[in-house]
Amino acid sequence: MHEYSIAYDIVVTAKKAAIENNAKYISSIYVDFGELSIINPEQVEFLFDTIIEDEPLFQNTKLISTIVPPLTRCRCGYEGNEIYVCPKCGELPVIEKGKEIVVTRIEVETD
Ligand SMILES: [Zn+2]
Repeated sequence: MHEYSIAYDIVVTAKKAAIENNAKYISSIYVDFGELSIINPEQVEFLFDTIIEDEPLFQNTKLISTIVPPLTRCRCGYEGNEIYVCPKCGELPVIEKGKEIVVTRIEVETD
């Protein structure tokens, strides 16, 4: 189950950031899901909630997911969201972004 390891990685990343910042608890975690990643954000959110159940740092922590459209580039200079055919020259564009899942921001509460 790929979603589980992603949810787990998010928890580990947030926990590390919280400890480094002497946080009392983590309020929100923002995650970008590339549209081309074959990951279901809802399932990640569900698994995330299961993992954090017994974690004191994660009390009412919100996982905020954003679906990010792909970014592609072509040799001809095209830059956009087309992943199969370059609208300018018909070549196959190179996918620069859109497959990855990235934690973009972690909000914590301190004293
Ligand atoms: Zn092109």
